[in-house]
Formats: sequence, C-alpha cells, structure tokens
Amino acid sequence: MPSFDCDLFVIGAGSAGVRAARMAAQRGAHVVVAEAAALGGTCVNVGCVPKKLYSYASHFADDFADAAGFGWEVPAPRFNWPTLKKNRATEITRLNGIYRNLLTGSGATIVSGWAQFVDAHTVQVQSSEGVETFRARNILIATGGTPVMPKLPGCELAVSSDSMFDLDPFPRRLLVVGGGYIACEFASIFNGLGAQVTQLYRGEQVLRGFDEDVRGFIAQEVRKHGVDLRVNSDVKSLSTTSGGISAALIDGTVLEVDTVLYATGRAPNVASLGLEAAGVRQREDGAVIVNSHYETNVPHIHAVGDVTARVQLTPVALAEAMVVVDRLFGKGEKAMGYEFIPTAVFTHPNIATVGYSESEACKRYGKVTVFRSEFKSLKHTLSGSTERTLMKMIVDDATDRVVGMHMVGSDAGEIIQGFAVAMKAGATKAVFDSTIGIHPTAAEEFVTMRDAWVTPQALVD
Ligand code: FAD
Ligand code: NDP
Repeated sequence: MPSFDCDLFVIGAGSAGVRAARMAAQRGAHVVVAEAAALGGTCVNVGCVPKKLYSYASHFADDFADAAGFGWEVPAPRFNWPTLKKNRATEITRLNGIYRNLLTGSGATIVSGWAQFVDAHTVQVQSSEGVETFRARNILIATGGTPVMPKLPGCELAVSSDSMFDLDPFPRRLLVVGGGYIACEFASIFNGLGAQVTQLYRGEQVLRGFDEDVRGFIAQEVRKHGVDLRVNSDVKSLSTTSGGISAALIDGTVLEVDTVLYATGRAPNVASLGLEAAGVRQREDGAVIVNSHYETNVPHIHAVGDVTARVQLTPVALAEAMVVVDRLFGKGEKAMGYEFIPTAVFTHPNIATVGYSESEACKRYGKVTVFRSEFKSLKHTLSGSTERTLMKMIVDDATDRVVGMHMVGSDAGEIIQGFAVAMKAGATKAVFDSTIGIHPTAAEEFVTMRDAWVTPQALVD
C-alpha cells in the first residue's frame, strides 16, 4: 500500500479550491491546499468582489445626478480615487483573513507557494522558505485562469483587469479593448467614476452569446451614459507619447489616452504546473480535460473551475467543487446542471440573463413566443435620467415553459436570481401569469407580460 501525506491535495485556493478544501476537511479528510498568491483567488482579489465594490462607487455618479429631481440639492460631488482604493484593499484583506480562518477552522492545512506536479501522486510546493513535497491520494487542480493579452506592437503598454484596481493615478482617459464581460463592466465603471472612456470591439456588437436584443439595447444605454463605444474597431499599435499612450486604430484614427485595458479573454492557468509529469491531458488552449465527474484521464486527479475553461463563473466553480467533494468524501455522486445558469454583467445599467437567447431558443425549441417590455422606470420619471429598462421572456410553445429571461436595468441581477429558481423548477408562462406582482416594482413586469412581441426582422437576421 503506498503511503500518502494527505487524502486530498488542492492546488489553488480560489473560489473552487477553498470550497473543496474546507468541505472535504469538514468531512474528516486530511486536506492540504497550496496557494501561490492571496487566498480567495480571482473572485476575491481581482474579480467579482472588488469589481462590484467599484461598480457601487461608480453608480453614485448617477445617484447624485438623479437626486436633484427628488428635491435634493447636492453640492458638486468630488470623487477621491485613493480613498476608494484604500477602502477596497482593507476589505479584501479582511476577506483574505476570513478565507484563512475558514480553511484552518475546517482542519485544512494551507501551504503558501507555487505547486507543481512531480508525478501523478506527488506535488512539490516552492515557497520563499524552500521546497516541500507531498504525496497525495487525490489531487484537485483548481488553478483558475489568467488574462490573455494579444500580441501587437506596443502591447507591453497595455494592462489587464488585474491592474485596474490599483491604477495610479486615476486614468482620466481610458481605452478599453474587448466586448466581453470584463470590457463592458470596466468601461461602465470607469465612465461612472469620471474617466473619459473609449471602448473598442472588433465585431458587430458587444457581448457575443447574449440575446441579440439585449446586446443592442446595452450598447445604446452605455453610449447614453457617456461611453464612446465603437464596434468593428480595433487597435493596430500602441506607443508612448509625452502626454500618455497613443493608440493607432485600424480605421487610421489615433487616440491619446492614459491607460489601455485589454479585456480579451482569460486562459487556463497551467503554466509551470507540470501537468506533463502527472500525465494529465489538456486541450489545445491549455484547459485541463475532464469528464462529467471532473475526473481527468488520471482517475485520482480532478479539475474544476476556470482551469477547465468551460463556464468561467464563481458560482459554477463552487458547484463543481462540491460535486468532487461529494464524490470523493461522502454524499455520493451528484451531477452539475449547466442549463439555466443565471449570470449578470455589471454594466450601467446592469444586465442579467438566465436560459436561452431568442435565437438559441428558436434553434433548440423550434417555435417560441417572445414577450418583451421596454420602459422608463418609475424612478426616472422624476430623476430626469433617460435610462430605459428592457425585459424579455422567451416561452417554448410546445410546453409553455419559460426558457429564457433577460433584463437590462437597475438591479437586474437581484431580480433574475429569483426567477432563475422558477425556471429551474420548470415554471410555465401560465404559472408566471398566475403569480401576483409586487407593486410598484420593475420585477412585476415579468409576471404581467401578456402580449406576444413580434421580433423585428433586423434582430432575427
Ligand atoms: P481562481 O479564483 O482564479 O483561483 C485559482 C487560484 O489558484 C489563484 O488564487 C491562483 O493564485 C492559484 N494558483 C494558480 N496556479 C497555482 C499553482 N501552480 N500553485 C499554487 N496556486 C496556484 N464571476 C462571477 O460569477 N461573477 C462576477 O461578477 C465575476 N466578475 C469577475 C471580474 C473579473 C475582473 C474577473 C477576472 C473574473 C470575474 N468572474 C466573475 C469570474 C470568477 O472570478 C472566476 O470564474 C472564478 O474566480 C474561478 O474560480 P477558480 O477557483 O476556478 O479560480
Ligand atoms: P470574454 O470571453 O467574455 O470576452 C473577451 C472579449 O475580447 C470578446 O469580446 C472577444 O471578442 C474579445 N477578443 C478576444 N481576443 C481578442 C483580440 N485578439 N483582439 C480584440 N478583441 C479580442 O472574456 P473576458 O476577459 O471579458 O472575461 C473572462 C470571463 O470571466 C468571462 O467570460 C466570464 O465568464 C468571467 N467574468 C464574469 C463576470 C460576471 O459574471 N459578471 C465579470 C467578468 C468576467 P469576440 O467576441 O469577437 O471573440
């Protein structure tokens, strides 16, 4: 019988790794978790949490502007970037401590340093104090992802989202390249904080994969808020000038900015992990290949979260980690359902969605009925803001089941989260119709939509 130092060795203490390590330890497993950077991973340190804090900060710009219509006389507000950075850093440090306590409290051992496979059962951790070697019965790869920075002349002048939280000084002129989650969120956030933001997207419309109607609607809304969003546009080269960074665009124009953010996707974090030594198979993009039990081709090595490059969202990473823990230490096999995963994009206004876009639903179900409502929210009747809200629901005609819900508007994530439960439970449009609304809210619109909407040809094409 081979002897092992632990039942489970977790590589990476991000969303997935922390969840797996502490739940396995709580169930009596001997767990060691290695983390090369700060506990909590991307989400806590340079992702969801600081991003949402900055999004709150940014929304105050709208709140101050909206207040006048309600009788509040707000003296010219001034934004203090160092204060926001300092308060964010304090909060993140507090969260790092909570993660440490959660892990040690559950009985898991934390090892600080870079982990690398020596063979399929052995991991070496390199830290400032030296090298430690562990033989593990099971190993979980939860190393997350890392920003992809395209190669172009002057690309070393651009930064990734990791650097955006601590920029010094505040970028008065910001160029954002990309049209995905991060690009759209950071464009809105820094626009609200007072930067002059230009966002370039190489395709026809931002947020590929989202409902077509939502994509057009958010583009229009962020432009109204002041983001200079340019589609079919890209950077040819970057260079330094006396005033900042000069970006030569493919259309021949030149922009001068203080900061260039490339938000052009994230790749699996597998560099120097030594997967070859363990014989773990990877996709061409580096992602660790797993089956539906998150098992790699080496049965005692599992992988979950962003390193598998499937759905890169924190709640998905957490749920996948739980499937592995249940499988290895206790509660039996459970399957993770990838249908009807709700998601939000924290643009201004927010986007939230669950289920299929209209075009995906048409392909999947054949005949669908669309219900759609676009309106100025009650708040903005007095605020003077021109912001509008979009709500859309897609129903499978054959079963009357609601298969897609989409919203652009204030608190969209908070609203869609609740409806996602109904959709998971298979709620039909008739059930939505028989649900009494909460008045006056925006959310009640989702239970009072009665007239089918005919999609304009331009959105169908
Ligand atoms: P991570 O959280 O990235 O954790 C991996 C950990 O492994 C890291 O701490 C890393 O240091 C460590 N590590 C890597 N290699 C090694 C090694 N060899 N040895 C030791 N340690 C190692 N998702 C949402 O659901 N909602 C959001 O609002 C949201 N906002 C985001 C905003 C931004 C700017 C970004 C970048 C991401 C955002 N995400 C959001 C995505 C979310 O952060 C990720 O899906 C999630 O963090 C993935 O968790 P993970 O455990 O797979 O990886
Ligand atoms: P995304 O995959 O969402 O978007 C990448 C964007 O960059 C796309 O618009 C893509 O264009 C564009 N792009 C890719 N390569 C290039 C290139 N060489 N030149 C110009 N443009 C390029 O990645 P993000 O980095 O925005 O985010 C990574 C993941 O993190 C997200 O997919 C999401 O899962 C997660 N995340 C979740 C958040 C949330 O839940 N609120 C917030 C932030 C991140 P094209 O569409 O043409 O391919």
